[in-house]
Amino acid sequence: MSLVSELMAYNKQFVDQKEYEAYLTDKYPDKKIAILTCMDTRLVELLPKALNLRNGDAKIIKNAGAILTQPFGSAMRSILVAIYEMGAREVLVIGHYGCGMTKLDAKAMVAKFKQQGISDQVLSTLEHSGIRMERFLQGFESPREGVLHSVSIIRNHPLVPAAVPVHGFLIHPDTGSLELVVEDYQATPAV
Ligand SMILES: [Zn+2]
Repeated sequence: MSLVSELMAYNKQFVDQKEYEAYLTDKYPDKKIAILTCMDTRLVELLPKALNLRNGDAKIIKNAGAILTQPFGSAMRSILVAIYEMGAREVLVIGHYGCGMTKLDAKAMVAKFKQQGISDQVLSTLEHSGIRMERFLQGFESPREGVLHSVSIIRNHPLVPAAVPVHGFLIHPDTGSLELVVEDYQATPAV
């Protein structure tokens, strides 16, 4: 059975048996938080459990490394939507130890593109169009540095209200132990 047939069969049973009832909620985050974190498979269930988050509690935005590369890219847009449209009042950036984006080797990844049949011509056309692979595939020196970088982009973003704190954390991908990297309450100006 293919992956797709398997998914479709399981899903039919899930819906028919009304297993969704345990998860019913609405689109607004009950805990009024938005979280930018990594797509690491170890965090899929562990992160919400370790933070006591249930369905409906938080807007969770994921990518490789919890990295914000552009202040006007899709991850940042998601954070702005969470704040302005969904009622998020605090933003958490949660990186993790053992992240695959630590010292990501752009050259090695380009070699894998070639192994999969991507031609030199395609790569050189991209480079000439301004898509620099070294930059496009850039990770970070350490997970802590990655968290601080993303926090800094969000904190200094011209469209993020000063009253919305942006905190940074590192989570351990086995134990779920959370370490505070930067707490932002002090940055909130007195009114
Ligand atoms: Zn990661």
